[in-house]
Amino acid sequence: MMTADQRIDLYDLDLPSLEALLATWGQPRAHARLVWDWLYRRLATEFDQMTTLPPSLRERLVAETMLPIPHVLARQEAPDGETRKDLLQLADSRQVEVVLLRYRQRRSACISTQVGCTCGCPFCATGQMGFVRHLTTGEIVAQVLHLQRELAAQHRQLSNVVLMGMGEPLLNYGPTLEAVRRLIHPRAAGIPPRRITLSTVGIVPGIRRLADEDLAIKLAVSLHAATDELRDRLVPVNRRYPLDHLFDVLGAYTARTGRRVLLEWVMIDGVNDTPEQAQALADRLAGMLAHVNLIRLNATADYAGRPSTTSAIEAFIAVLDRAHIPHTMRQRRGAAISAGCGQLRSRFR
Ligand code: SAH
Ligand code: SF4
Repeated sequence: MMTADQRIDLYDLDLPSLEALLATWGQPRAHARLVWDWLYRRLATEFDQMTTLPPSLRERLVAETMLPIPHVLARQEAPDGETRKDLLQLADSRQVEVVLLRYRQRRSACISTQVGCTCGCPFCATGQMGFVRHLTTGEIVAQVLHLQRELAAQHRQLSNVVLMGMGEPLLNYGPTLEAVRRLIHPRAAGIPPRRITLSTVGIVPGIRRLADEDLAIKLAVSLHAATDELRDRLVPVNRRYPLDHLFDVLGAYTARTGRRVLLEWVMIDGVNDTPEQAQALADRLAGMLAHVNLIRLNATADYAGRPSTTSAIEAFIAVLDRAHIPHTMRQRRGAAISAGCGQLRSRFR
């Protein structure tokens, strides 16, 4: 995509597009490969670093393209040292969050796909800020490269990527999917597809489309309620794509891909942590390839709900166990720095 100053964001281009661009400049294909390696292997931040390129090519790149390296506006590190969140400033001064989670040998990036979100889930800091704009492919890719650079300096590698930061990935479908393809490209970020998780609030046409892509990534769906009456309130998108409709498409997704779906459930005290909701969830999931991920609510400024008590969580889990529904309780890693979606940005206003 061209930016306001008409220079091309190099991270927006896939390899064939980069080759095509360089071909119009009369440059051989091998030079495109060299540029590509500087971008994704050597993680260059400036054209000056690209010392293996002929000077004429470097000059042309400087004149007509750019490497929009995000500027770190704020950083929060959890006291346990496992989670770090950066607020990144984009070329137009908009801001997005990217989180690095370190856990044993794992290094996971949690990245954003939009500035803000149209979906308006009341408990979510991103939902509370409303929608600002979509991110470009380049801006999504740049978040991962930002963390890869920092890890490379420590001789570490990024092992996983989750699209669970700000925004709804399936409402920014084209740029998000192109970014995912860049992340899994063996000559680009090279993250194995099974280590990439896309989380959606349940955009039915997007899930249907995703099922037809030849991508072995993981799908997570933010369910949070198992009755339409409750989900309409917690996840307003449910009014458009109610549960029966959502589960029809999830059934088709698992049949088509052979992969199970991860169902996210933010535990909110007295709201969706009741045995009745647990039973309704178990009923919905009977016989389905699914795994439930329970997450304790992170408090946000504009939502009065509180995280569930341990006893409510235990009772909820007991219902799932009786129905043999696989589940995990996600660690509250990052809670101390409000690593929940959109929370650093909203504090920085
Ligand atoms: N829009 C997508 C992806 C971004 S949100 C989606 O909704 O799935 C990523 C996850 O963070 C979602 O499961 C979302 O429900 C959860 N989340 C949002 N606000 C939260 C909060 N305050 N506490 C805990 N989890 C939250
Ligand atoms: Fe958007 Fe996801 Fe937040 Fe809902 S939870 S408002 S879909 S980012």
